[in-house]
Amino acid sequence: MSLQGKTAIITGSNSGIGLGVAWELARAGADVVLNSFTDRDEDHAIADDISRETGTKARYIKADMSKGAECRDLIAQAGACDVLINNAGIQHVAPIDDFPQDKWDAIIAINLTSAFHTTAAALPMMRAAGWGRVINIASAHGLTASPYKSAYVAAKHGIVGMTKTIALETAQEPITANAICPGYVLTPLVEAQIPDTMKEYNMSREQVIKDVMLTRQPSKEFATVEQLGGTAVFLCSDAATQITGTTLSVDGGWTAL
Ligand code: NAD
Repeated sequence: MSLQGKTAIITGSNSGIGLGVAWELARAGADVVLNSFTDRDEDHAIADDISRETGTKARYIKADMSKGAECRDLIAQAGACDVLINNAGIQHVAPIDDFPQDKWDAIIAINLTSAFHTTAAALPMMRAAGWGRVINIASAHGLTASPYKSAYVAAKHGIVGMTKTIALETAQEPITANAICPGYVLTPLVEAQIPDTMKEYNMSREQVIKDVMLTRQPSKEFATVEQLGGTAVFLCSDAATQITGTTLSVDGGWTAL
């Protein structure tokens, strides 16, 4: 499977799943555009590493996915978009009657609304190129819920719904739109939830991982960023041409429960 000549834009990709997906797409031959809201030397250095290791072109473009104009500008600055991976995301955990409104607004903006703006800007480029893939990194929380994650669950269910609409609007074109729904993956986003959960349940780190996080993941293992990257590469393959408007769970059996 070669993605040579294709440009992939991955939002929120200076760490975690986005970075893992960028690496796998580059290993498959795609030129990748990395993104986050910072503009540090280390952000650009990640892109240089990918270019050096894979021989593809990798660039880093700063854009804040909580701002619609910057989402659209990211796509415009990239100049081409054959594969769009909507991945940027944040989390906040609190009971709904205590959920800070600024956190709700930020989660909806970054995890859901950004994908509306990037997709709107990218589809004309895909149509002009005659091929395209929209891949939204949703979550098991796009298909099921957990307490204290109202904004995240709402945003992830929302992006699953938007994925279906994009698929229907592009169904007769050489463009597909799908959502990947990971279970728990040990990334900085998940690491950040461990201390609060330890405090809340008065548990050790190991207990939180085993008895809280992986309790609904029957495999009892975290999914890896490489596995998610491989799933994205598959969705870009010819074999996946008729796969559109659906969700692909990478969750160790979570949603089979
Ligand atoms: P992460 O914190 O490692 O990565 C999140 C990325 O989003 C980072 O690159 C961060 O810089 C970027 N980001 C945050 N705010 C941004 C903004 N305003 N503008 C641009 N970029 C921004 O977390 P992750 O676990 O890799 O999460 C990536 C995606 O995967 C998220 O959408 C998350 O909801 C989803 N997900 C993660 C898991 C998991 O267990 N880790 C499970 C299911 C879904």
